[in-house]
Amino acid sequence: GDVGFREKLQFSQHLEGKAEAVSDFARSKSLSEQRQYLPIYAARDDLLGVVRENQVVVVVGETGSGKTTQLTQYLHEDGYTRTGLVGCTQPRRVAAMSVARRVSEEMGTALGDEIGYAIRFEDVTCPNTKIKYMTDGVLLRETLKDADLDRYRVIIMDEAHERSLDTDVLFGILKKVVARRRDFKLIVTSATLNAEKFSKFFGGAPVFHIPGRTFPVDIIFSKTPCEDYVEAAVKQAITVHMTSGPGDILIFMTGQEEIETACYALAERMEQIVSSSTKAVPKLSILPIYSQLPADLQAKIFQKAEEGTRKCIVATNIAETSLTVDGILYVIDTGYGKMKVYNPRMGMDALQVFPCSRAAADQRAGRAGRTGPGTCYRLFTESAYQNEMLPNPVPEIQRTNLGNVVLLLKSLNVENLLDFDFMDPPPQENILNSMYQLWLLGALNNVGGLTSLGRKMVEFPLDPTLAKMLLMGKELGCVDEVLTIVSMLSVPSVFFRPKDRAEESDAAREKFFVPESDHLTLLNIYLQWESNQYSGDWCNDHFLHVKGLQKAREVRSQLLDILKTLKIPLSSCRMEWDVVRKAICSAYLQNATRLKGVGEYINCQNGTPCHLHPSSALYGLGYTPDYIVYHELVLTKKEYMQCVSAVDPQWLAELAPMFFSVKEGDTSFLDRKRWHDEEKTAMEEEMEKLRQEQAEATGR
Ligand code: ADP
Ligand code: MG
Repeated sequence: GDVGFREKLQFSQHLEGKAEAVSDFARSKSLSEQRQYLPIYAARDDLLGVVRENQVVVVVGETGSGKTTQLTQYLHEDGYTRTGLVGCTQPRRVAAMSVARRVSEEMGTALGDEIGYAIRFEDVTCPNTKIKYMTDGVLLRETLKDADLDRYRVIIMDEAHERSLDTDVLFGILKKVVARRRDFKLIVTSATLNAEKFSKFFGGAPVFHIPGRTFPVDIIFSKTPCEDYVEAAVKQAITVHMTSGPGDILIFMTGQEEIETACYALAERMEQIVSSSTKAVPKLSILPIYSQLPADLQAKIFQKAEEGTRKCIVATNIAETSLTVDGILYVIDTGYGKMKVYNPRMGMDALQVFPCSRAAADQRAGRAGRTGPGTCYRLFTESAYQNEMLPNPVPEIQRTNLGNVVLLLKSLNVENLLDFDFMDPPPQENILNSMYQLWLLGALNNVGGLTSLGRKMVEFPLDPTLAKMLLMGKELGCVDEVLTIVSMLSVPSVFFRPKDRAEESDAAREKFFVPESDHLTLLNIYLQWESNQYSGDWCNDHFLHVKGLQKAREVRSQLLDILKTLKIPLSSCRMEWDVVRKAICSAYLQNATRLKGVGEYINCQNGTPCHLHPSSALYGLGYTPDYIVYHELVLTKKEYMQCVSAVDPQWLAELAPMFFSVKEGDTSFLDRKRWHDEEKTAMEEEMEKLRQEQAEATGR
């Protein structure tokens, strides 16, 4: 249980309730003085003592207390890196990169030397690296090659309260590593107080509390539900800026598009105010932050604003706990967040906007009280907070597609997934459905075992669908083409669409359209960029993000390395684009849709209505083929299919005969659905039988 350090660690408050502008602080104090000022500093020696005496320790501390940036350094200073790496996992890529950069500055070394980071498709470490920040997904994949993680002396599982899918799977895996390796240490950190669960999971590991230092935050609820929270947030921010005292503003939105809209509206409003005002208007520096934002722009939020300028950061829930910006005194909370949610009945993953949980709303409000007494404007009513919001967020593992996890655990020889040591097991239905989808892709056999195709798919750090597309490219002789498409799908959208030049940029995009396919449109863009010597100017002329294309090129070369190790040659079909479409089709069997009405499709598997997205080449050209497959379904106002390709129904029948049939007169949807359900039940029965046999064999 709790080691009772709380009392022992009561230390004199550096601040006596007096606000100090930390941004001034940051400017005037050296990095080492800043380090000593953090709440965790006073607890350093006791913390290291507890770590020395225990194999697993849970560390709880307010956001901004120094867990992420300091713990690794303390362990390094205490000698742990002499015999292995100190690894620190983050659920978010942005956090892994930005924190590694910060720590390398604090230690006065170049990023990528002693301090490095690794995210998917980007490894900035070297043999000299001692402290490695990485996404939880990267560490999870490392367990495929090294089940005992022998390179690591200590792993810090940071931001455990986020309960990301990969963190949750790591919990189960690391618990085994802890049991096997006496020399291995595990530290689990959490920003919230419900850490008892983590402690219990690791057999009653001690919980260490870092004494906090926070200021009161005034909470102001909206009196009535607000109709357009983007508009309301912009209004509130302008009001704060024009009427309130110093202090920066932080706005929580749900995603990139909204953030861009809000930033644009804020800039526009400020311009209007400046031009219609006779007096000098204080400046507002508007800074977006979301995970797909290029790294150099992300770093801007940490920079001190010019004298007399107020910062207004517009963020996704990334600023809830993973990134801490000093100097925020005003928080504006829309009360919403985007979540990936899996609907097992439909076998469909969708990114959806949901009200956030009460715990998340409180976290957000807390961000206003780090530097001094702050204010949080909630754009929702108190009654919504009490009655409509869940107390805690639902762990990702219970609401997401488990395709990747199933494939990974299968290749780690976890035979029976329902027996895996999950902290909160996913619904059985989700596991079985994900297995079914993998079976459809050919990654699992009839009894739920990994096929040789499935074994190859695991080699790629990709979703099972994209891995399948690559491997199908091999069968059809178009690896070169498919490799480019998969790489383009693995980076943020390359289309640059500034609000004030929307028409111009749309026209530029249309020039690349390949009538039957958005996937081929992406291929077309890459090929043209290649034949223009990967030119940046060419990108600018065509409203394309050069950074995005460069990233795609890097991803491509890394995937090519994996293909080489698997001895898969780079075959090309020489622009026979139907062949490429067939490979695309093979990856998205579960995302096959049939034309139903004007511009409306329904999913062949479950009858869900789906719509062409206005950005699609098919939409742009007014082309509505009978069958299309899509990459992703996004729920906003409607169910929109993101990135689609027209396919030949014959291909579907050929690639998944158990599922699709093309007979005279076309079998009705209901027939197909029945067939599909029968197949699925049969497979589930077989798996259940197998499970029972296993249970008997092991005497359980
Ligand atoms: P925790 O993990 O407990 O939330 P952190 O270690 O992330 O705390 O942050 C401690 C402090 O380090 C923050 O208050 C902030 O001032 C500073 N900091 C963290 N990351 C950066 C960065 N990328 N740039 C500048 N300052 C940073
Ligand atoms: Mg942190």
